[in-house]
Amino acid sequence: MSAIRLDGIAIGQQIRAGLRAPVAEFTRQAGRAPGLSLVLVGDDPGSHLYVSSKLRSAGDSGLDAEIHRLPGDTPIDELLRLVDRLNRDERCDGILVQSPLPTQMGADAERRVFDAIDPAKDVDGFHPTNVGKLVQGRADLVACTPSGVIEILERSGIRIAGASAVVIGRSDIVGKPMALLLLHRHATVTICHSRTRDLASVAREADILVAALGRPAFVTTDFVKPGATVIDVGTTPVSDAELVAGWFEPGHKRRDAFERRGSLVMGDVHPGVEAVAGALTPVPGGVGPLTIAMLLKNTVTAAMNRLNGIGL
Ligand code: NAP
Repeated sequence: MSAIRLDGIAIGQQIRAGLRAPVAEFTRQAGRAPGLSLVLVGDDPGSHLYVSSKLRSAGDSGLDAEIHRLPGDTPIDELLRLVDRLNRDERCDGILVQSPLPTQMGADAERRVFDAIDPAKDVDGFHPTNVGKLVQGRADLVACTPSGVIEILERSGIRIAGASAVVIGRSDIVGKPMALLLLHRHATVTICHSRTRDLASVAREADILVAALGRPAFVTTDFVKPGATVIDVGTTPVSDAELVAGWFEPGHKRRDAFERRGSLVMGDVHPGVEAVAGALTPVPGGVGPLTIAMLLKNTVTAAMNRLNGIGL
């Protein structure tokens, strides 16, 4: 048996196509396009790549997106002042401060910055107001990656209600909101983490298994009930040729790509799981494209809410 591949690129395109009409309607009513402000601090190459790709996608979808680039040694107060300015900028509907922030900003920098963003413009869905609303099942702006996973499941016809769902990972940005979204859709949800005992046997109970640990190829076949849907959120850059050789046979397209580039982005799910799962999101081309599509969707929602005076 070989798992059905859930195509995140195609689903992301569907979502973006669905945004054309509301973007046009907003632009007609407001006399401007929905505005997205991206903030990038420092020179982390991964963050540069993500932010450039968000900017491009936003432009392609008719949004008015801009990047504010700040040097890595920027004091946190300066970043907070920029957030305050964007909060008060009428043309800005959505604010995204790319994480991680430089370590020199302090251990609590991300929390301070996310807390400072106007909840009505919080297109990442990280503000405590939006997280609280998510707990109550009434949030408009929900973290992009987990809401993208829900889109994949629903648009692929995978039944969530009544399913046993296991989420491995309990971060604020992926694991916890993921578990809540599944719960609100009537799954029976188990959240696992680094202290979970006998993780593989807990995971094996799942009809829907979401792996969000950031440990490449950690979820092996013994974690997966035959026929289960496996969602691979993990994206870890790997440059160890020996590891890659252990995962992919010579001639496999991912091994060839590694040999050309000297690195690859690996998911949390071992390639062998494809033979056991019923459906599986690939890495790349699974959850990743949905994260950007949901950011654009959140921006349009935030813009429409602001236009219609729906405050938070
Ligand atoms: P994170 O904040 O590091 O959280 C990882 C979670 O996994 C923690 O809850 C941790 O448990 C748990 N964990 C780690 N090792 C474990 C183990 N051996 N057994 C069981 N649980 C373990 O990571 P994150 O921000 O949630 O991201 C997770 C992954 O998703 C990363 O690879 C990240 O790059 C990727 N990601 C991808 C996208 C995308 O668009 N595709 C978006 C966001 C994140 P404890 O809480 O006990 O430490």
